[in-house]
Order: sequence, then structure tokens, then C-alpha cells
Amino acid sequence: MTKLEQLEFDIRGMTCDSCALHVERALKKVSGVREAEVPGWESGRASVLLEEDVDSQALIESVRRAGYGASVKTRKPVVERWVEKPGSSDERGDDHFDLMVIGAGSAGFAAAIKGAELGYRVAMVEAGTIGGTCVNVGCVPSKTLIRAMEQYHQAGQSRFRGVHTLPGALYWAHVMADKDELVAEMRQSKYLDVLAAYPAITSMEGRARLTGENGVEIDGKVYTPGKILIATGAQPWAPPISGLKEAGYPSTSSGQVLTSTTALELKELPRSMIVLGANAVGLELAQTFARAGTRVTLLELLPRIAPFEDEEISQALQDYLVEEGLKIVTGFQTTRVEKLNGRYILTGIQGDQEITFDAEQLLVATGRRPNTAGLGLDEAGIRLGKRGEILVDETLRTDNPHVYAAGDVTGQDMFVYVAAYGGGLAAENALTGAGRIYDASYIPRITFTDPQVASAGLTEEQAREQGYVVEVSTLPMSFVPRALAARDTRGLVKLVADAASDRLLGAHILAPEAGEMIQTAVLAIRFGIMLTQLRETMFPYLTNVEGLKLAALAFEKDVALLSCCAG
Ligand SMILES: Cc1cc2nc3c(=O)[nH]c(=O)nc-3n(C[C@H](O)[C@H](O)[C@H](O)COP(=O)(O)OP(=O)(O)OC[C@H]3O[C@@H](n4cnc5c(N)ncnc54)[C@H](O)[C@@H]3O)c2cc1C
Repeated sequence: MTKLEQLEFDIRGMTCDSCALHVERALKKVSGVREAEVPGWESGRASVLLEEDVDSQALIESVRRAGYGASVKTRKPVVERWVEKPGSSDERGDDHFDLMVIGAGSAGFAAAIKGAELGYRVAMVEAGTIGGTCVNVGCVPSKTLIRAMEQYHQAGQSRFRGVHTLPGALYWAHVMADKDELVAEMRQSKYLDVLAAYPAITSMEGRARLTGENGVEIDGKVYTPGKILIATGAQPWAPPISGLKEAGYPSTSSGQVLTSTTALELKELPRSMIVLGANAVGLELAQTFARAGTRVTLLELLPRIAPFEDEEISQALQDYLVEEGLKIVTGFQTTRVEKLNGRYILTGIQGDQEITFDAEQLLVATGRRPNTAGLGLDEAGIRLGKRGEILVDETLRTDNPHVYAAGDVTGQDMFVYVAAYGGGLAAENALTGAGRIYDASYIPRITFTDPQVASAGLTEEQAREQGYVVEVSTLPMSFVPRALAARDTRGLVKLVADAASDRLLGAHILAPEAGEMIQTAVLAIRFGIMLTQLRETMFPYLTNVEGLKLAALAFEKDVALLSCCAG
């Protein structure tokens, strides 16, 4: 066993890619350094994995000799490096695994694949359907329905797979069948077939539970893998509302109060629906059902819909949805739910007024909570947070050094790509002790309404709270030639920048297909690209993403006076 430590440096004086290389080389030169990484010169930092007896000063000196400044930010022990030679577990029998992954969703798959690619023997255990939330009951089915209803709405009749002549209810049945087909196809091609390509991964069916420090019990059999990764995801959650349980929550079939899971299985379109909760899932489903022909009332406890997005964007989105016919009530506290004569009666308070709504269906979309019940976490010495999430450190390690956790079960950033990123990172850290740090600073967030909300980085308010000297540029989509040509100028682009460094801190977009625009801003935020550089970069004409460049120009110019694609 080699005792290793992880050292994070602030590096000064780097101005180009070659600088990053020079610093990396200088660090690697020092005896006892195992790995050194400078993640781009703009980052101004370096990560080093080194033996515990190496003096930080030796590294600082080596960097100084290369012409740069370095100061230690953090230095921490890496909890035991996993020194088994990959494959050596085979010699200890078929039942020994270097890594056991609990949950075969996105985080679990990414972790298992990373383990196999690093040369370790991995087991992945699943209690439900392989693929987890995203492919079965989340991203894939919801986005298929959303897209179909977008086309139905835009055309007045659907062009979706040639069934445009079908009237409402029949059309819905076709769309649902088509969605089920795609889910099955993608589960096969993106999960089952992928699994078959990795012989080092053993797939198991069953419910796993931790037993003590490093044991896992599956159907009465106990395994003691080298490391354990918990990736058990999350499930729909409702606040305690009087009468909700009696009215049929959580639903097990479409005859009861709906969750996002059962709403995506509805065989018949309801005439009316109350959607409780106006964050991403509630908003997406509310608009989808409204476009399919259901009368939708959307109720939100907080003062605005999309409550965690930029305020201007929330307001503009609300206006578009109301224009489409959705009824939206914010600042509404539900106090009671009843089911009378087959209808849901929902009572609550807005301000000092009691209001009652009723509808044929009730969909509760008030959030998701981590799947941690019955996992034996207490016995394994693993602490949970207030919302039942597994608490992890910045390397995704739990309080138990044998156990890591990733994805929705950690309660943070519930997106599939984040789950996959976390799964891979946690597996690498668990197996090799690499000590890679989970970086949440630039995570893109998309709400697939139409227009879409896409954002990354800090909002104006968050940036001010963090003490930046904030500059903001807001560009209505009506200034973007692509939007004009498409005769759809809904939305806006808002950029938040740090005046002192000229760097982008956040981007917030409301626009049709805003999800396709945000990645440019994500790269700018992640790699510290300056606004000047964004302004000087060519963006293709006519595209919506050009809106980002125009918004960058709007920091210093009146965009109304710009010529086509000219700076
Ligand atoms: C309606 C909806 C739409 C969404 N749309 C998007 C989107 O468009 N884009 C996006 O990025 N994200 C979206 N998400 C979020 C995304 O689906 C999740 O963040 C992601 O799938 C989480 O992956 P995970 O691996 O953490 O968990 P999961 O995929 O939930 O996997 C966890 C697995 O663990 C299994 N499990 C649980 N307990 C045990 C146990 N004890 N033993 C063995 N197995 C167990 C479960 O059965 C499950 O299969 C959406 C979610 C919902 C609900």
C-alpha cells in the first residue's frame, strides 16, 4: 500500500497552452510525483497526486524555475490507493469483484464501464429495469412525447410518423405506442448491447443492501467487493398534503394520482389535469398535455414558475404558456386534496385567499428524493442529508472509505449526463485513488418546454452574492436573424459576466431549441473564455447560437445598430 496525497495548486503567470505544458512538466519532474495535470492554462490551477513524504516546497520551486508562480490551495491524503493489479481478483474466485455497483442506471453504467476500461472486475446489480430512470421513465419517453406534441401543435395537425390524419385521442395512442417502441429500442442498444461488449462486467438482478463496512447482500448472498458504488437514483416525491394519500398517491396505475412515471404511461388523454409543481418536469408535462388537448392548470408554491432560473426568463416563459392556454397560479400552497365522483378537488391558499380547483387528473411533480431506504446505510456508517441524499465529499466518497456514491442518489444536479460524469469519476477514484474532484461549476440545465430554457453557470443574483462586479447583457431573440427568418422570435439571451476579468460567469437562454445553443456558453464558462474572445469568434449565420455572440457584443454596443453578422 502506497500512501498518496492530492495537492491542488493555484498557478500564476500562464498565458497559453504551452504554459500549461511547461507547468505540468515542471511538476512531473519532482521525484515522488505520480500524476500532474493542468486543466488548461485559463484554469489557473494544477492537480498533483504525490507520495506523502514529498515536500510541497519542492514542487513550488520547480514551477518557479519554469517561470511561473505556484501556491498550495489544498493538500489532502488520498484514502488508500487500491493497489490490486487489475484482474487479480479472478484468482480469488468468481465471486470477488474489485467494484460492486448498485443500480444499473446512467451513473451505474458509467461507473461499471470505467471500472472495466481501467482493467478491473466489476459487478453491477439492478433491482428493477436495466437502464434506470432516463431511458425507461425519464428523458427518453418524456422528450419523445414533447417532440411529438410540439409538431402537433406547430402544424395544427401532426406530421409525426405519418399519422397526421388521426384525430386527438387516436393520435395520442399512436404517439404512446411509438414512444414505447423507442424506449425498448434504446434500452436494448444503449444498455443491454453495451453491457454485452464488456466481459469484465458481471450483471446481476436483485435488490442490494450493505452489510457492515464493506459487505453487500443480494438475495441472501453476501459479497465483499474491494469497493462499492451506490447509484440507486431517485423517485418521485410529494410533500405531506392532507388527503393526498387517500386520493391515491403514489399511483401504481393510471387510475390514481399521477407521478411523472405514470403520466408517461397514460393510455387515454384526460380532458382536464391539475399539475402540481412548475419546475422542469412539471412544466414539460403540463405543456405537453395542454398541447395534446387537455385543459391544464399549473400550480406552483413558489412565487414564480421555473423558480431556480433567471427571473426574467421565468416571467417570459409564463407569458408564453398562458398565451397557449395554460392556467398558471403561483405562490399557491396546497392544503387539501380529495377525490369526489372520480374528480380531484384540490384546495389551497394564495395570499389570504382560499381557492379550489378540480380536474379529471392530478399530476404531482413536486420533486424527486433519493432511493436510500433499506440500503443498510446506517450499518455501513454512511450519513444522509436532510432530503435523504447520501452525503459525499468532493471525490464522491461517502463517510465510509470503501463506499462511493454518484447520480441522483447524492441529491445534487439531477441530470443524466451529470449522473454519468459522477459515476465514471467515482469509479476511478474508488479503484485507483486518483482523487479527481467533482466539478459542478458549469453544468448545463435544460427545461424542454417550447421555447426551451437553457442555462449554465451563475445567475445575476448568484454572481452578486458571490461578490463579483457583475455586468449583464440581455438580448431579445428578435435581434437574432435566425429567429426572424423562422418567424419565431420568442425568448431572450442573458449573459452574466465578471467585469474585472472579462469572463463569462453565466448564460441564460429562453428560445426555441435553446438546448442547442447553451453548449457554446458552457465551453466559455468552463475554460474561462473571455467576452472579447467570444466577440472575436466567428459564429455561423443564420443560426440561433449567433444570439450568444450578439449578446456578448451587446455588453458594449447597441445591437440594433449592427449590420448582418458584423461585429
Ligand atoms: C420525467 C423525467 C424527465 C427527465 N428528463 C431528463 C432530461 O431530459 N435530461 C436529463 O439530463 N435528465 C433528465 N431527467 C433526470 C435523469 O433521468 C436522471 O437524473 C438520471 O436518470 C439519474 O440516473 P441515476 O443513474 O442516478 O439513477 P437511475 O437511472 O434512477 O438508476 C438507479 C437504478 O438503481 C436501481 N436500484 C435502486 N435501489 C436499488 C437496490 N437497492 N439494489 C439494486 N438496484 C437498485 C433502480 O431500479 C434504478 O434502475 C429526467 C427525469 C425524469 C423523472
